[in-house]
Amino acid sequence: MKQGRAGAALIRKLVEDLMGPTCQCGRGKRPKQSFCKECFGMLPKEQQMALYRRIGNGYESAHAAAVSYLKAAGVCQ
Ligand SMILES: [Zn+2]
Repeated sequence: MKQGRAGAALIRKLVEDLMGPTCQCGRGKRPKQSFCKECFGMLPKEQQMALYRRIGNGYESAHAAAVSYLKAAGVCQ
């Protein structure tokens, strides 16, 4: 899979978000977890499972799907 400049920037952002202490919703989360437990708990089971994929191996699309699900649910802005 080719990673362009945009891809590299996206991955850096994903890693920062993943390692950071704040969920997209503004609540605190644990580093290495994509979302706080409230957001994570709202995701369908298969989306929760998909977030255990590695970056470069499906995590990007799993994360994007989870974010749009949470936005649709009104959790994230
Ligand atoms: Zn959250």
